[in-house]
Amino acid sequence: MARKKIIAGNWKMNTTVEEAVALAKDVAAVVGSVSDVDVAVCPPYVNLAAVAEAIKGSNVKLGAQDVHWEAKGAFTGKVSCAMLKSVGVTYVIIGHSEQRQYFGETNETVNKKTKATLAAGLLPIVCVGETLDERNGGKMDAVIDAQVRGGFEGISAADAAKCVVAYEPVWAIGTGVTATSAQANEAHIFIRKILTELFGKETADTIRIQYGGSMKPDNAKELLAMSDVDGGLIGGAALKASDFAGIVQPK
Ligand code: PEP
Repeated sequence: MARKKIIAGNWKMNTTVEEAVALAKDVAAVVGSVSDVDVAVCPPYVNLAAVAEAIKGSNVKLGAQDVHWEAKGAFTGKVSCAMLKSVGVTYVIIGHSEQRQYFGETNETVNKKTKATLAAGLLPIVCVGETLDERNGGKMDAVIDAQVRGGFEGISAADAAKCVVAYEPVWAIGTGVTATSAQANEAHIFIRKILTELFGKETADTIRIQYGGSMKPDNAKELLAMSDVDGGLIGGAALKASDFAGIVQPK
């Protein structure tokens, strides 16, 4: 089954508005006309509007790094789906391991955010992945199983088909240690097996599963060549347009 690859840059808590606009313009200049791969950049909230303007007219789509599931009200510091939509967001990263580790994200909140995102007509990028302790302790499969089933609970197959899953082993994020292409593919096949149990083979075969964790221009080609690696969620290497371009179109 041919799935269109999707490469998304997660800029995390980096870039002032000036830096974000410059980076977005550079990204649009180097990969803005790419059409055989879906490309997105996910700047901090405060830079979304400016980046939307900077990538206008290119094929680069806008993503957010998180969202709150409630529509509006007394949720200080939070941002709703409607707000994201109003500045031109297409994708929303949900359940990133840094949200899980530092900000109390759980499979239940991932599920609420995923449902709200879908209801708003936005496209979720649902992140899952095990820590090193969980992998070494033989708990990897159980952790990922709970993250996928919890995150997608109560979601229809038609809605699941709109989602992207990002497999991001926590031990590989920002560490310079990348999962081998075989390790990544094995995890992706396992995730697709769970998605098949939940939504049937036809839907599971259409859901794109990105790899994330120290993906760079020099390892992207091998990772992206694997049968079930359908793209990348890129942290550090997304902060330099030439590196990001080297992942979108690896040599
Ligand atoms: C990420 O934060 O989603 C990520 C994959 O980061 P890095 O590429 O820096 O490991």
